[in-house]
Amino acid sequence: IQDPRIAGISSSIRVIPDFPKPGIMFQDITTLLLDPKAFKDTIDLFVERYKGKDISVVAGIEARGFIFGPPIALAIGAKFVPMRKPNKLPETQKFPYKLVSCKEGNVIRVYIASREVISEKYSLEYGTDIMEMHVGAVQPGERALVVDDLIATGGTLCAAIKLLERVGVHVVESACVIELKELKGRERLVDKSLFVLISST
Ligand code: AMP
Repeated sequence: IQDPRIAGISSSIRVIPDFPKPGIMFQDITTLLLDPKAFKDTIDLFVERYKGKDISVVAGIEARGFIFGPPIALAIGAKFVPMRKPNKLPETQKFPYKLVSCKEGNVIRVYIASREVISEKYSLEYGTDIMEMHVGAVQPGERALVVDDLIATGGTLCAAIKLLERVGVHVVESACVIELKELKGRERLVDKSLFVLISST
């Protein structure tokens, strides 16, 4: 049986035909955000699923994963890691140290916090895009949840999962508010677990 809160969440989402291009049925979650009950129910449903699951990282995908991810992270006691569009995170540090002269005349190396960024290229319906994360934001062996508003072809979630796995993080599950079923993104995720509140055709 479907949770009674799902119907209210579903009816709070506005569908805009032919945006941003002809043929796309854009699922506009800004109207969900205007409805405090629907917004709270959305976050609560995710929190109920992930609380106590030993998840230390919530990775949110730019931009709408930045809306749903942080309240989930706070409620389950995890950190929030932004998965960003290219060139938004501070640059890779080529030399993670600077040379400092001491009083005695020796030169020592002082290490600076690393800000290394890793990128993953992925395909969109038309063309490609790049997603980036800070390597130092997570530690190998941590357990992560990936959050976005919607899965269409699954390319975006796949790139986020790849980035996290490249640095040794275990992705427990991906969570979205909406799944566009006919685009078969779930198949692209293969054996990676996906949880959605609303499946739409
Ligand atoms: P995909 O990589 O094909 O799964 O696309 C998912 C990403 O594109 C998500 O970050 C969504 O926010 C966005 N997106 C794709 N299709 C739609 C749509 N019909 N309505 C709203 N957002 C969409």
